[in-house]
Amino acid sequence: MRVVLIGYGPSSVAAAIALRAFDSDAYTTILTREDRPAHRRPGVALALGSPETNELDIADASFESLEEKGIQIITKATVISGDPKSNTLTYLDSSGQKSEIEYDYLVIGTGGTPTIPMIPGNDLKGVHTIQTIEDTITVGKELEDITDVVIIGAGFSGLEMAEKFHKLGKHTHMVVRSRLMRRQLEESMSNELLHRIPRGLHVHCGVSPKAILGEDCVKAVQVDGDEIPADLVLFMTGVRPNVTLAKNLGVKIGSLGGIVVDEQMRTSIDNIFAVGDCIEMLDNLTGKPILMPIGSTAARSGRQAGIAIAGSKKIYSDVALRLQYDRLFNTDVVCVGHSSVTAENLGLKTNVLLHQDSHEHTHVALVTDGDGYLIGGQVISSRLGAQIGYQILERIQERAKLDESPLLDSRHKQLQELMDHILGPIQ
Ligand SMILES: Cc1cc2nc3c(=O)[nH]c(=O)nc-3n(C[C@H](O)[C@H](O)[C@H](O)COP(=O)(O)OP(=O)(O)OC[C@H]3O[C@@H](n4cnc5c(N)ncnc54)[C@H](O)[C@@H]3O)c2cc1C
Repeated sequence: MRVVLIGYGPSSVAAAIALRAFDSDAYTTILTREDRPAHRRPGVALALGSPETNELDIADASFESLEEKGIQIITKATVISGDPKSNTLTYLDSSGQKSEIEYDYLVIGTGGTPTIPMIPGNDLKGVHTIQTIEDTITVGKELEDITDVVIIGAGFSGLEMAEKFHKLGKHTHMVVRSRLMRRQLEESMSNELLHRIPRGLHVHCGVSPKAILGEDCVKAVQVDGDEIPADLVLFMTGVRPNVTLAKNLGVKIGSLGGIVVDEQMRTSIDNIFAVGDCIEMLDNLTGKPILMPIGSTAARSGRQAGIAIAGSKKIYSDVALRLQYDRLFNTDVVCVGHSSVTAENLGLKTNVLLHQDSHEHTHVALVTDGDGYLIGGQVISSRLGAQIGYQILERIQERAKLDESPLLDSRHKQLQELMDHILGPIQ
């Protein structure tokens, strides 16, 4: 059996590893247009300060580690078309020549494409998005000439970039359409995060960019009634599924713009699977399609596809369960499962419980559905984010009601004692 995977991101890599773990005879080839080992995207912000990336230890799945598992990688290979009747892909190889490769099973893991709003000046020199490490290296090498930075969008990666520019001494502004992390955080949690942003990093909430101003190079960003000086503008406004190739293959695309897959990640064509940011996942509670372009779900969708191709019927229930952790502004920020925004978008009724522990500088929001089951939670904490986040995750997976399985009372006190014992009280 020959399995070809397009893409060297977490989704395809997880698919290849799971496949080989369950079927060590599967002839497994990854095609990627990149020429460097797959790297952790959360690490790309580091490349801003150290654009010579050799010293950054952010490679995730190196060529060697995959080759040891019997996975072949063809780099600098851009797949340009495919024929599902003959099960053949055509790609441009490293010398620009057309080559063909046949498959019994194909996995599409082509990721997402950054979105830039259609506003005047969005193509000026100095306007960037960050999707690959090359993008960050490009910006990193221009840093010396940059004083004023405007970041548009306030999800995890936008905030990461803003923190990094601020630490590098740049005058940094964030332009945020509504509030910080509107989809992931309840409003009070957003406000709490806003309070933890250091002075000197300016956040403009509730405004949208109207135009990027400048002749050849960017000079300012025009927002409602104001102009913010800028030598560099970074759009961190999310990604849309990259489905160019899927369309060429005739695979069904859904109403959200992603590749339609079933619970096994199988597309509308029987021997073609799709994984990661390019798909519409099925929400684990409602079964409705959702877009969730994050690395952890990408990897889980890959694992699901890999075992399905190897012949397993197992369906993992956690493929689309959000689990995001980041450390921003000396604060743990954790989002698990649904927020009230994402749940209500799917037609679920929600109730939100807020907890606050000022001794621990910890704020927790717990989201339950109409029947009282925990479906999500968020933590903003100086140091307890991972531990509490993990407790929330466990209870969501157990389908727990909070009165049956309390979260923050006795366990939290024990946790606090333990942390105090290990680390000493928080100053
Ligand atoms: C700056 C930044 C920070 C992030 N931080 C986090 C984080 O902290 N936590 C988190 O969970 N997620 C994070 N993410 C999101 C995460 O990186 C993505 O969700 C994840 O990489 C998606 O994996 P993927 O395998 O679907 O696609 P990608 O990782 O985007 O990989 C797509 C692959 O497909 C290849 N490809 C595409 N088209 C072709 C073609 N025609 N021919 C050949 N190859 C092709 C590309 O070269 C690439 O190798 C971040 C993203 C960014 C940009």
